[in-house]
Amino acid sequence: MSNSIPYGRQNITEEDIQVVIETLKSDYLTQGPRITEFEENFANYVGSKYAVAVANGTAALHLCALALGVEEGDKVITTPITFAASANCIRYCGGEVVFSDIDPKTYLLDINKVKELLESSPKGTYKGIIPVDFAGNAVDLEAYRKLADEYGLWIIEDACHAPGGFFKDSTGEKQRCGNGMFADLAIFSFHPVKHIASGEGGMITTNDEELYHKLLQLRTHGIIKNNDLYENSIEFSGGVDEYPGWYMEMQALGYNYRITDFQAALGNSQLKRADFGLQRRREIADFYLEEFKNKPFVKGQSGVVAGHAYHLYVMEVEDRLGLYNYLRENNIFAQIHYIPCHLMPYYRELGWSEGDMINAENYYKQCISLPMYPTLSREEQSFVISKIEEFYNV
Ligand SMILES: *Cc1c(COP(=O)(O)O)cnc(C)c1O
Repeated sequence: MSNSIPYGRQNITEEDIQVVIETLKSDYLTQGPRITEFEENFANYVGSKYAVAVANGTAALHLCALALGVEEGDKVITTPITFAASANCIRYCGGEVVFSDIDPKTYLLDINKVKELLESSPKGTYKGIIPVDFAGNAVDLEAYRKLADEYGLWIIEDACHAPGGFFKDSTGEKQRCGNGMFADLAIFSFHPVKHIASGEGGMITTNDEELYHKLLQLRTHGIIKNNDLYENSIEFSGGVDEYPGWYMEMQALGYNYRITDFQAALGNSQLKRADFGLQRRREIADFYLEEFKNKPFVKGQSGVVAGHAYHLYVMEVEDRLGLYNYLRENNIFAQIHYIPCHLMPYYRELGWSEGDMINAENYYKQCISLPMYPTLSREEQSFVISKIEEFYNV
């Protein structure tokens, strides 16, 4: 048993290390074949047509906002119970973040609240919605798509918590997170606490060919290298009858949001074990649920939900601070996800305050994320459970 148990952690195998070493010895450290390979395998894994690998999940969100044309003053709806980046990407483009409250049972953005928000303003007020598959619990994107179509909105699915997760659509079919069936774009992160680790890294998936090409261009400075798409004339380019070999055009203001080949190699190697990791996460969730159901100190929990990818196992408890500190004394580093985004000083400055999102705020007062990662052993999990029960004296 390790002497310290975090809430989440990466799992690096000997094979992972070998593929990184091989890549370091190859011709490409970046812009090479490992990236394309990772993109193809990842698209295949989630069931989307296209995938674009980028530097991190935040860069993925920023590129999505740019590709969708978010600009000054555009209003976009998201949940306050998420990592700040889900909202910040709109601010990068000068847009306005409109938080909408969560469903206290699922902890996900409450579609009925979003509906109320849309109905209470003239059509055209909002541009898009960013639902988050919080904790790994897949959002019903079919319902969001219907609503979005009514109001002419785009959808970015923040699926950072949910590679391999799914929801069942109205016909009973499994719809995997990030498969591009309902959301215009979906994003993932490969930070070490997430399911698939590449150090830093991110991915955007989509079924929209036009958005896909925009993303590729924006990922590399807005530069295009394609004879068919140039805007300047051949005469200008320096050639006579055709564009010379060096020629390229910067047609939009893009960024350098590329991932490296050795990160992509690591991500690819990790992706091979994704299903195994997901299965372990489900087993861990089963065990928590079994131990904690009907316990009086438990006010709510992630539970066992088909299609949940269990990035986190969340419980709502009495005396959360006491439990958090008691676990720390025992080297168990549970975590809180999240301090509501609208109460961060930055967003308070923009006009948000306590009382704006009652469900999110109540949730925050008693939530705690228990250790959840594939290599958490049964013995370690039993230790965590016994310490929690010890704290509540049951
Ligand atoms: C991790 C995370 C991000 C940001 O990903 P980075 O790779 O850390 O930039 C965005 N949204 C959610 C919900 C996340 O969990």
